[in-house]
Amino acid sequence: MSGYQASCPSCGGTLVFALGSSLLCVCEHCGSAVARKGANLADYGKVAALIPTPSVLALGMDGDYEGAPPFRLMGRLQLDWGQGTWDEWMMGFGDGTWAWLSESQGRFHYMGQAALPPAPRFDQIEVGQTVDLGPPGTFVVAEVRSARFVTAQGELPFDVAPGSALNYADLSGPGGQMATLDYGTGDGAEALYVGREVSLADLGLRPREDEDRRVAATGESLKCTQCGGPLEIRAPDRTERVACPWCGSLLDATRDLAVLAALDKPPFKPLIPLGSKGRLQGVEWTVIGVMERSVTVEGVRYPWQEYLLYEPRHGFRWLVDAKGHWSFVEPVPAGDVQEVGSNLYRYRDRTFKHFQGGFANVDHVVGEFYWAVARGDQTQSHDFVSPPCMLSSERDESEVNWSFGTYTPPDEIWKAFRLVGGPPRPEGVAPHQPSPYAGRVGRVWSSALLAIGVVFFVYLFFLFGGGRMVHHQSVAIPPTAVSGSPEAALFTDRFVLDRTGNLELKVQAPVSNSWLYLDGALINEETGEVDEFDLEVSYYAGVDSDGSWSEGGQGARTYVAGVPPGRYVLRLAPQWEAGHPVSGYDLEVRSRVPRFYQVALAALALLFWPIVLSWRSFRFEMERWSESDHAWVSVSSSGEGEE
Ligand SMILES: [Zn+2]
Ligand SMILES: [Zn+2]
Repeated sequence: MSGYQASCPSCGGTLVFALGSSLLCVCEHCGSAVARKGANLADYGKVAALIPTPSVLALGMDGDYEGAPPFRLMGRLQLDWGQGTWDEWMMGFGDGTWAWLSESQGRFHYMGQAALPPAPRFDQIEVGQTVDLGPPGTFVVAEVRSARFVTAQGELPFDVAPGSALNYADLSGPGGQMATLDYGTGDGAEALYVGREVSLADLGLRPREDEDRRVAATGESLKCTQCGGPLEIRAPDRTERVACPWCGSLLDATRDLAVLAALDKPPFKPLIPLGSKGRLQGVEWTVIGVMERSVTVEGVRYPWQEYLLYEPRHGFRWLVDAKGHWSFVEPVPAGDVQEVGSNLYRYRDRTFKHFQGGFANVDHVVGEFYWAVARGDQTQSHDFVSPPCMLSSERDESEVNWSFGTYTPPDEIWKAFRLVGGPPRPEGVAPHQPSPYAGRVGRVWSSALLAIGVVFFVYLFFLFGGGRMVHHQSVAIPPTAVSGSPEAALFTDRFVLDRTGNLELKVQAPVSNSWLYLDGALINEETGEVDEFDLEVSYYAGVDSDGSWSEGGQGARTYVAGVPPGRYVLRLAPQWEAGHPVSGYDLEVRSRVPRFYQVALAALALLFWPIVLSWRSFRFEMERWSESDHAWVSVSSSGEGEE
């Protein structure tokens, strides 16, 4: 390292800028911040004392990161954004380069220097905006803030007077990447840092066992500073606010539990008590805080409860209870959510449709929170659904947060947390509640259609088989016979039917511009039972002003249904048009001939269930969307459609 040594302009002690690129150094003898300005030094005066953050790091610690040269923590910067403080550590590498290690609420982010592409000005950058950062990719602006440079220790790579406000934007990129655009004290971007969340183990750093970690961290015996009730802090490194479960007062966990808002009783009683442990998605979570939130639409308040879950290695999750419908909710980096169309977003290979938007308020809080929660906090929220999942965004002026919820049956929650009694019955249909018909409707339709196909195939098979010919006769009508007279009538030869079935009677006659009518009867020789029928062949053709025309044909058929086995004859009495005698006719009798109406009835029967199911599914979806900003029709939200 190409270091640089000088005498402190304030106390004359030795100042060491160990890293050649450092521009600011806090004198370890007198505490003055001294900047390098070319060959000269400028004294910014004494820096403030360090804020006692729960940091587990210290200047001088050595580590290794992903095959880079070994590094040492050479500088520490403390920043305050108004509702919290965090530490930025300067990692100086053996080759003279450096990076930031940001430490906030027990989480660490490695942020390395990257080439600064053209970037929006600070007064123009907005949360939710996408910014092309060049080689690292396209990022989404997740946070835009100013933070006060409170104090420092060691050396730092910039020349800024302590106390200045520093402008920055945090961005979220693909694959868990994070970026910070640093605007310094102005509006133009000055530097870009790109990195990701890391663990101390990734960095080869061992946390120190600590004397000045904040009081909360040590505390089994904490007491509410308002009511004196015992407080158990379950996430001491990360908690910013505590709402006392005894009196409901809101306390500042970063400032010795100073009372921020005094109350005299807890505002509500959570269904899952604070401190409950439950295993969900393979992790044992502890409930550390509960909020009641609400949206108000047209004067009606719609409340729900959010349970904050904590596990030291996995961080925070939420359980959300809205009208008895429960969801397990995980945070999502903004950079992993893609807008793929109007009101459509994509995340984890799912496409989410916009369900509703509104302004969500924090009404009541109990327990611990990792941010500076306050009653009355308001964010603009949007929910997008792809059952059983929900994607939600919440934004205010300076931050946007995305989360991913999975619908969880209430019984599972009760079992996981070993709660007594049963869960309250869910009301209506939740936005992302899985439909009991999902998948089933498709399956039922495909099996019904398959069955109809089989029936139709069988029908075709028999149709081309054409039934069994049981009788065939060419009948001559004596030229002397009179229409309708007994001598024109005839009994056919006997035929035998061996199985019950229909009978098709087909007649073919050489009529031309005339007709032949057969008055028929099917006679069972054994029982004497008679089934009457008639057949009419008529054919007319000619030429008129429109051209040639024709009507009817030289054939006709009829059916007798459900004929039992037995010996049969037919009696046929013909009549014809006066002056148009017919020489004869040809008769064919077939048994068991398939009929199309039978297929149609079978198809209708087979389609009954799919149609009923589709209708129920439609009703379910209609009820789901009736609560959204995109209702199909206005329907009452009564419990209709539940089974
Ligand atoms: Zn000094
Ligand atoms: Zn209290």
